[in-house]
Amino acid sequence: MATEPTSAERKVDDQEDIRIAHPKTWAAGLPGITHSVGPAVREMGAGRAAKLLTSMNHKDGFDCMSCAWPDPDHRKVAEFCENGAKAVTWEATPVTIPREFWQQHPIPVLLEKTEYWLGMQGRLVEPVYKAADSDHYIPIDWDEAFRIVSEKLRSLDSPDQAAFYTSGRASNEAAFEYQLFARAFGTNNLPDCSNMCHESTGAALGEVIGVGKSTISYDDFAKADLIIIMGQNPGTNHPRMLTALEEAKKAGASIVAVNPLPEAGLMRYKNPQKVGGWIGKGTGLADEYLQIRLAGDQALMQAVAKRVLEAEEADPGTVLDHDFIDRYCQGFDEYARSVRALDDVEVLRATGLSAGEIGGLADRYMRADRVIITWAMGLTQHKRAVATIKDIMNLLFLRGNIGKPGAGASPIRGHSNVQGDRTMGIWEKMPPAFLDKLQAEFGFDPPRENGVDSVDGIRALADGRLKVWVALGGNLVSAVSDTRAAEDAMRKAELTVQISTKLNRSHAVVGREALILPTMGRTEIDRQAGGDQFVSVEDTVCAVHPSWGQVEPVAPGLLSEIAIVSRLARATLGDKVDVDWAGFEDDYDTIRDHIAHVCAGCEDYNRRIRNKGGFVLAHGPRDSRTFPTATGKAMFTVNELEVLEVPQGRLLLQTVRAHDQFNTTIYSLNDRYRGVKKGRDVVFVNPLDIAELGLEDGQRVDVHSEFSDGVDRVIRGFRLVSYPTARGCAAAYFPEANPLVPLGSTAEVSNTPASKSVVVRIEPATRAAAA
Ligand code: SF4
Repeated sequence: MATEPTSAERKVDDQEDIRIAHPKTWAAGLPGITHSVGPAVREMGAGRAAKLLTSMNHKDGFDCMSCAWPDPDHRKVAEFCENGAKAVTWEATPVTIPREFWQQHPIPVLLEKTEYWLGMQGRLVEPVYKAADSDHYIPIDWDEAFRIVSEKLRSLDSPDQAAFYTSGRASNEAAFEYQLFARAFGTNNLPDCSNMCHESTGAALGEVIGVGKSTISYDDFAKADLIIIMGQNPGTNHPRMLTALEEAKKAGASIVAVNPLPEAGLMRYKNPQKVGGWIGKGTGLADEYLQIRLAGDQALMQAVAKRVLEAEEADPGTVLDHDFIDRYCQGFDEYARSVRALDDVEVLRATGLSAGEIGGLADRYMRADRVIITWAMGLTQHKRAVATIKDIMNLLFLRGNIGKPGAGASPIRGHSNVQGDRTMGIWEKMPPAFLDKLQAEFGFDPPRENGVDSVDGIRALADGRLKVWVALGGNLVSAVSDTRAAEDAMRKAELTVQISTKLNRSHAVVGREALILPTMGRTEIDRQAGGDQFVSVEDTVCAVHPSWGQVEPVAPGLLSEIAIVSRLARATLGDKVDVDWAGFEDDYDTIRDHIAHVCAGCEDYNRRIRNKGGFVLAHGPRDSRTFPTATGKAMFTVNELEVLEVPQGRLLLQTVRAHDQFNTTIYSLNDRYRGVKKGRDVVFVNPLDIAELGLEDGQRVDVHSEFSDGVDRVIRGFRLVSYPTARGCAAAYFPEANPLVPLGSTAEVSNTPASKSVVVRIEPATRAAAA
């Protein structure tokens, strides 16, 4: 039974008690077990916890709803990490929100609560509605809920006045059905959480190799000679990757970590699956740690490439992979000319690294026959993110590190099915080939105009072009930048609809009317008229596999995402299109039959998804060095280097996630690896910078961002933490620091919020509490 927070919880929420200890120098080990299994048993009971944890990521089990890390072919009994266990515990808790909660907690009260408190209230179990003239939700039945949404949608002047947002939780089947509904309704307004994370990756890889996805498979890690990890914190955001890195190390790979923060998971790993991981020293991971300045990655990639070209000139025919460049690439000469002209002084200023460190990385790169470069949001959320990733690809092309074992580009996606959702058509600008197939399959003419992404969707809400916001999962107002602007915009909607498992901030920031439609989680058995159903998901290396619910739904009457979309579509569209929505709900095979006809690489989907462990999507660059680009070749590109200027007395700030966090979901107020307990309103700054700014470790500060629009964006009362981050760089937690990032500060081309390069001014706090 959910209750008001206790006084102890209130105290924690107020963050009066933040404690700071030394950051850890290794990840996982015994604490990895105690912090995962202990809470799972306490929250769910031993039976439910054992059932779920031992079936998680297994071939007959359910897929972890947290990150998109792939599964090895041979699975252990415990095929999960601490964060996966937390995600399961969070979703599969038997605690439910009681009817009286809604009367006791009107919207203004919910608005005062933290994400942590909201998530702790338990599972949503019945539809609730906030009327235009009310300040609180009331429980309603499903038919009434669908009537309200469908009548509102049908009343719009244009289908483009509605947007249909998707989070990476949605399965392939739900995502395919949802985009079909949106397009049959008449809009391409299909923003998704990818807009906030790997959109830059898709834009860059799509242009230069023709496929916006990883070019490696799980097994490639153990075959690599060198793995370069850039802008990524695997210990917290993809913890099972540490096992793959440990295996790679044992097979002889060297690892270089490039990051402004010396994250524990980059340094040493104590594998909790092995006794040696409990009592021994564990495995050292990074052979070399390059503490790069924020936004310096593009300069580093160009500088390494310059040294590779110089080495080739000194000893022709021995360094470059001429066969690969000549047969498969285009644009080498122009690229080489531009890199040879690189200003070395500019590189040192941009990266904060020494010439020796850059030369050392270049030497490692040239010694290795098989190189993988991995990255995550430390790269994708910069203004020059797309150019940076294109320069990673340039470097890989120079020595043919694409389309061979143990080599390639490895963007690591952070939400379970964010990649699969895009494969299924969740994108505001799906290419004509996809829309043509949709038209042929269903006999209606899908809209051809591009829709809005997340950032543009917020703008469209703000200026009244969008009137209805439907969200299949997620927590957009917390995930997107410029929190205040995003919340103001969302409140202008005429109707907001959230399809969710648990409460979050987006349920409190509502349009004139608002609905919450509770849905089943991935852990729960999905019984439909056609029998028990499974869904499917795609991981970060393009492997597609089934996911079967394992435990009884937490409450009777909960609907699956597919059932909700199906009923919404029937209520809204009637017989406008010839689609058997009811058949979709009864038997998910019928959706998969359509996926097989419409989505690239998904032929014969129903048969292949039933292979033990699923199947891997075809990938031209990875499988056969076939590049479906505009020229049919892998494209070297010339990307101008821009060095971000930071005025004297200012720092460059990035937003980061804590260890007890998954995207906007906060599991606790601790960040074990960085030594933070009982609080999140902290800003990490190098001790030398603290001294230079005339501040003191531990004092409360206000952090103001400085952008050319002149608006004073500020977060107040944060505790200053002396931390060994790169000089001139600072870090604060996402989403607490999102208010500092203007909506207009986005990556070029991809429009992803540039949350990793925020120029800030830090001053003594003017008041104690955070804004
Ligand atoms: S690595 Fe990611 S997918 Fe795997 S169990 Fe952990 S959180 Fe889940």
